[in-house]
Amino acid sequence: MTYLGAHLSSSRGFFKMGQDALAIGANTFQCFVRNPRGARAKAVKPEDMAKLRALLAENQFGPFVAHAPYIMNPCSKDEGIRELAGRMMAEDLELMEHLPGNYYNFHPGSHTGQGVETGCQQIAAMLDGAVKPELHTTVLLETMAGKGSEIGGRFEELRMILDMARCGERLGVCLDTCHISDGGYDIAGDLDGVLEAFDRTVGLSRLKAVHINDSLNPCGSHKDRHALIGEGTIGTEAILRVIRHPALEGLPFILETPTDDKGHGEEIARLRERLGEI
Ligand code: FE
Ligand code: FE
Ligand code: ZN
Repeated sequence: MTYLGAHLSSSRGFFKMGQDALAIGANTFQCFVRNPRGARAKAVKPEDMAKLRALLAENQFGPFVAHAPYIMNPCSKDEGIRELAGRMMAEDLELMEHLPGNYYNFHPGSHTGQGVETGCQQIAAMLDGAVKPELHTTVLLETMAGKGSEIGGRFEELRMILDMARCGERLGVCLDTCHISDGGYDIAGDLDGVLEAFDRTVGLSRLKAVHINDSLNPCGSHKDRHALIGEGTIGTEAILRVIRHPALEGLPFILETPTDDKGHGEEIARLRERLGEI
């Protein structure tokens, strides 16, 4: 069974999220481990995470993906913001030790005028501080739309970070279909070509998770506005080609489409039907 799931809002406990994921036909899911816009870590109960861990194992879930807060910017020109990013990631990764063997995905950030190379160096330095050797979580860099001074809109930029970080060997990548299409990679028209480009620069072995989103805007628009599957410029057939691609077999595919649990459940059911899984 394909690992299909969605980003669930975090205004409930971790175990409840697992139950709600099951209820919508998901066998993987993503969530924030703290308030997505605020910096303050929410009070997490270790028992709650232990219960989620058991639920994920009992129900043969695929890898769970935690998402770093949107406000995290490890390559801001403001030193305080960079330090905050490092602290947030270190704290979140400590919390993730209650759910060992899973993923922690983050947006590389925006260099805010410092240039791509300086930005990549700062991201690499932050990672070297936060990704301690004893941790059991794989940190994933997300491919971005290249909006403004955002880093990660080109595969080469992710490669640069992997090369600059001493912990680079231990990092992975999460590919977001909306982001890379907006970034100028024609995932709808030339999936094989895009995956070949990814393999040449980053390496397909680094790809650990996929965000499946349609896009409101055309390829190369650098906008980052997600759409429901089939209601954007990528389309249902192209998303299905991604999910079925042999090079991506076994990865968790996670919806970050603009809808609620019920809507995600409907999208998952439609995709599973097309995959011959229900
Ligand atoms: Fe993201
Ligand atoms: Fe995403
Ligand atoms: Zn996005």
